Amino acid sequence: MKVSCPTCQKQVEWKAENKFRPFCSERCKLIDLGEWADESHRIAGQPDPKQMEHMSDDELMAMMEKLQAKPDGD
Ligand SMILES: [Zn+2]
Repeated sequence: MKVSCPTCQKQVEWKAENKFRPFCSERCKLIDLGEWADESHRIAGQPDPKQMEHMSDDELMAMMEKLQAKPDGD
């Protein structure tokens, strides 16, 4: 069975070995999470999700860690 990656629409095999399904890669999964976080939290100075597609994996990971480290409530 094949599904389209929600981020880049690439055809990706839906199988147990693909731990990022329905995404084609960890990168696309992070980008999708980033978009969700961006819509939910609206952090000023947060990079645009479209920019994230051009970021390195290290940059993405660092940013996701920052997002997830955000304390609940305000
Ligand atoms: Zn993808």
